[in-house]
Amino acid sequence: MDPKEPFLSVIVPCYNEEEVLAETYRRLTSVVTRHGWSYELLFINDGSKDRTLSILREIAAADAHVRVLSFSRNFGHQPAVSAGIRHCSGEVAIIIDADLQDPPELFPDMIDLYRKEQANVVYAKRRERKGESAFKLWTARSFYRVINSLSEVPLPLDTGDFRLIDKHVIREFKNLQERNKYIRGLISWMGFKQVPIEYVREERFAGSTKYPLSKMLRFARTGLLYFSKKPLQVALTLGFLSILVGLGLAVWVVTGIFFRPETLVPGWASIVIAVVFFGGVQLLTIGVLGEYLGSIFDEIKKRPEFIVAEQINFDENPS
Ligand code: UDP
Ligand code: MG
Repeated sequence: MDPKEPFLSVIVPCYNEEEVLAETYRRLTSVVTRHGWSYELLFINDGSKDRTLSILREIAAADAHVRVLSFSRNFGHQPAVSAGIRHCSGEVAIIIDADLQDPPELFPDMIDLYRKEQANVVYAKRRERKGESAFKLWTARSFYRVINSLSEVPLPLDTGDFRLIDKHVIREFKNLQERNKYIRGLISWMGFKQVPIEYVREERFAGSTKYPLSKMLRFARTGLLYFSKKPLQVALTLGFLSILVGLGLAVWVVTGIFFRPETLVPGWASIVIAVVFFGGVQLLTIGVLGEYLGSIFDEIKKRPEFIVAEQINFDENPS
C-alpha cells in the first residue's frame, strides 16, 4: 500500500465542527479499515472559529492517513469541497459532510457499484431526510425542482455532494476554470457514467447546521446563474409582455379622450398602475442582468477560489 497514491480519498469539509469531528474520524476510519482499502482522509478546515483545527491537528499527528488543508478564512462549503478534490490523490474520492448526516457505512456499496458498473460517478440520492426542519425540506425540494426545470443540464433530484467520483472526473474537475462552483451541477454536467445509490439521510450527529439562510441563498444563486440562462429569457419575455400591456393601456387612454371624456380625471389610476408595473418589470430585468454581470465580474477578477493557510501531512509546502 502506497500512502502517496491511495485507492480512496475521503473528502470532508469542516466548518465549526468541533462537536462531531472525533466521532466522524472514528466512523470513517472504522469503515475504511474494515475493507482493507488504502486510503487518505482529507479534512478541509473552512476557517472555523472553534476548536476544529486543533482537533484536526491532534488527529493528524497521530494518524498519517489524515491530511488537513486549512483555509485562511471561511470560504464556504463549495470551495472547501473543491479544494479537497484538487488536493486528493486517490483513484476514487468520496465527498462526505462532517456531521455524519451521510452514512460512511454506504462506502462499500458505492465502491461495489463503481467496480461492478464501471461507473465514474456514484451519487447518493436521499430517500428520506430525518430531523430536518419543514422549512429546510421545503426550500430544498423547491430549489432542486426549480433549478432542474431551468437548467440546461439535467441535475439529479434530492442529491447533495455526497458522492463517489473516479480519477477521470477528478482530472476533469481540476481543469475547470470557473471560480464560483456549483459542484453537484458541474459533476452532472461532465457526463461519463453516473449511477445513483439510495440512502436515508440521518440527523446531524451533533451541533447545528452551518448553512444559514444567507449561505443557502448564495448557493442557490450560483446554482441558478451558472446552470441556466433562462432567467435572462424570462426577463426578456416579461419586458415584451409589459410593452404589450403598456401599448394596450395607451390605446385605452387615448381613445378615452375622444370616447370617454368623463374618465379623464379618474384616469390617474391607469398612470399609477403603469408606472408601478413598468418600474417593477424594469427593476426585475435590470436585476437579472446585474446578477449575470456580477458573475462575469467575479470570474474575470480571477481571484483564487480559496486560500490555503496551512497543510498538514502533505509532502509539498503550501505555495
Ligand atoms: N461547511 C463548510 N463551510 C461552510 C458551511 C458548511 O465547510 O461555510 C461544511 C459543514 O462543516 C458540513 C457541510 O459543509 O460538513 C454541510 O454543512 P451542514 O451540515 O451544516 O449543512 P446542512 O446539512 O444543514 O445542509
Ligand atoms: Mg448537515
